[in-house]
Amino acid sequence: MMEITLPTSKKYELIDITEKVARFVKDIKDGICLVYTPHATAGIIINENWDESVQDDFINLLNKLIPEGKWKHDKIDGNGAAHLKASIVGPSEMIPVKDGKLQLGRWQNIFFCEFDGPRKERKIIVKVVKCM
Ligand code: ZN
Repeated sequence: MMEITLPTSKKYELIDITEKVARFVKDIKDGICLVYTPHATAGIIINENWDESVQDDFINLLNKLIPEGKWKHDKIDGNGAAHLKASIVGPSEMIPVKDGKLQLGRWQNIFFCEFDGPRKERKIIVKVVKCM
């Protein structure tokens, strides 16, 4: 299994993992790449990396939609908002692969989204399926 592990350093953080994922598809002529994170308080998105304001805006939007400290689950372990953000964002993305390259648009990058950091280790599973 192809796996990426990384630490996170902030409560909310978007980490660009595009180059780490791209390494796994170098030998794939035609296929599909699944990028999945097995965590209940994290997610995967595809969006712009050129300007950091997009990442900040995304985190600010989620914080406005889902404020901290008003959820039933907060009584359990204090991270109700993080679970809701992860559910809305989703744990995975699928990207077509052609001639060894992820078919991302010019302004698209793959991000791991931390909603309950910092964490010593977060895991991302990458699965590549070859097409005939
Ligand atoms: Zn929890």
